[in-house]
Amino acid sequence: MKIDFLTLFPGVFDSWAGHSMIKRAAARGLVRFSAYDLRKYARDRHRTCDDRPFGGGPGMLMKPEPVFEAVKDLFKPRVSKKKARWPKATRFIYLTPQGEVFSQNKAEKLSCAKHLIFLCGHYEGVDQRVVDTFVTDEVSVGDYILTGGELPAMVVAEAVVRLLPGVLGREASKEFESFSQNLLEYPQYTRPAVYRGLKVPSVLLSGNHPAIETWRKKEARERTLKRRPDLLKFRKGKG
Ligand code: SAM
Repeated sequence: MKIDFLTLFPGVFDSWAGHSMIKRAAARGLVRFSAYDLRKYARDRHRTCDDRPFGGGPGMLMKPEPVFEAVKDLFKPRVSKKKARWPKATRFIYLTPQGEVFSQNKAEKLSCAKHLIFLCGHYEGVDQRVVDTFVTDEVSVGDYILTGGELPAMVVAEAVVRLLPGVLGREASKEFESFSQNLLEYPQYTRPAVYRGLKVPSVLLSGNHPAIETWRKKEARERTLKRRPDLLKFRKGKG
């Protein structure tokens, strides 16, 4: 998969891309990342990418020209009737608090793409003509306001990358993670079996795998019922 970020702050992605699972996925050739500086596509000598909104109001807006120029130069989409026609496996994602709230389900859908392009907003967001022309998906990371789209873009990209075949190594592990079956994961313990008088549930030490499985299912259901009962309504017929 190819993942591109369009941003005013490309350096923000360096640390994230240089560590842990994301770094390993790139080193193994499972994903390629690039962060492109929109300021390089600004026309004036001050590399201005923002301007005041028409009609007044507080704050500044990201100008359309640098984004149009960057997209044209980097991805060369066909545009007909003022709308880009992206290849089927390409998604152009604008991070915005006004978008669809991100979920594991959305991550799974995006993981089927071959090319993800993330547009990171700043100030009061981007000129609507950019959204109307290029964007296939508007995604929010929750009902709160951040300063820029870089953190949301990393959140979405990371959730997608860990779903790509070969990235986690243990393919089974993601099948049982929270949300994958509309359940939260069961509680987990590691050594030592007793720590400061706190004991690991004895069933987990029993070696009785059917009993462990039953215990985990029960715990996952109880935890979900208590913390996220909304998830259970999607589990009809799954026990
Ligand atoms: N004026 C915008 C509004 O009220 O909808 C908020 C703009 S916000 C300060 C600046 C940028 O941060 C947005 O364009 C977006 O890219 C990003 N952003 C902020 N909160 C976000 C969220 N919850 N999810 C996704 N992106 C977000």
